[in-house]
Formats: sequence, structure tokens, C-alpha cells
Amino acid sequence: MDLKQYVTTVEDWPTPGISFKDITTLMDNGEAYKYATDQIVEYAKKVNAEVIVGPEARGFITGCPVAYSLGVGFAPVRKEGKLPREVIRAEYGLEYGSDVLTMHKDAVKPGQKVLIVDDLLATGGTIEATIKLVEELGGVVVGCAFLIELTFLNGRDKLENYDICTLMQY
Ligand code: 5GP
Repeated sequence: MDLKQYVTTVEDWPTPGISFKDITTLMDNGEAYKYATDQIVEYAKKVNAEVIVGPEARGFITGCPVAYSLGVGFAPVRKEGKLPREVIRAEYGLEYGSDVLTMHKDAVKPGQKVLIVDDLLATGGTIEATIKLVEELGGVVVGCAFLIELTFLNGRDKLENYDICTLMQY
């Protein structure tokens, strides 16, 4: 299946000059959503993932069906102030300034094999911070899976020590 036909490019959103990849048109097509999910499930089996970790919010849409399909758990990574119990935090750089991602301290067990799932790899900042959190908890990142990779932003360079799976490249 050619998944790219279900992705909508929105020019100048959220700010002028940005060419945004809108995946909602993939998600609202049942066949395309299932096909994309199944591809990541196959990858998750190959790397023996024991738990799925995904950053809010599109990492939930992408990662949760993978966890459900495998019958493994899903651990959310969220912006500061959203998780109710004790968290660990990781700061990451944005184009202007920085932001913080958090995870519950007990979300990943030491030695657990973790697959990180998000919708899109751009500069890699989000996934780098997510990896930091997982590793601080003692998790072993066995792979990172994305629907889309924006290759011209070279996010892959930040992930050279990790196994990556991307379903579409732009
Ligand atoms: P990065 O941290 O790799 O620069 O950016 C990736 C994060 O930003 C992902 O969590 C992703 O959801 C979001 N993101 C950045 N650009 C886009 C885009 O064009 N489309 C979508 N759907 N998400 C994006």
C-alpha cells in the first residue's frame, strides 16, 4: 500500500515556511491506519519489544494500537505537569528555547526492551529526549519506529546508535 497518498501536506502551518505533514487523513482511513500499524507491529516483533513508549500526542495515536496488537504495555511520555505521580524529566531544544518531557518513574522496568513509537522524525529532538528518559529508567531501547521521516532535517544523525524503522520518507 502506498501510504503517502493518505498523508496531507499543509503549507505554512503552524507557521509560515513550514510544510506540515498531516497524518489525520491517514488515521481516519481504517485500511491505511491498520496497514501502517501492522508494519510497525512486524518491526516490533523483529526487535522483540516488551513495551511501547510514545511521546504525546501523536505518539499515542501511533504507538497504542501497536501495543494493543502485541498485547504489551504502553508507557506515555508527556509534557511537564501532565503525569500525576513521581516523574523523571528531560529537557530538549526547540527552534526557539526548550521544552521538557516527563515519564513516570516506574513506567519502564530495568532491562525491559523498549520500542519507541512516534508519528514523525524531524530534527530528532523529541526522540532523543525520550530515549534519555527510557535509559535513565534502565530500559533498553531496541528500536525507534515512525510513520514519517523528514530526511532533510537529518534526525537520523542523532540516532546513529539505535535501530530505526520509518514507513515513509520525504
Ligand atoms: P523533532 O523533535 O524530531 O524535531 O519533531 C518531531 C515531533 O514533532 C514529533 O513528535 C511530531 O509529532 C512533531 N512534528 C514535527 N513536524 C511535524 C509534521 O510535519 N507533522 C506531524 N504530524 N508532526 C510533526
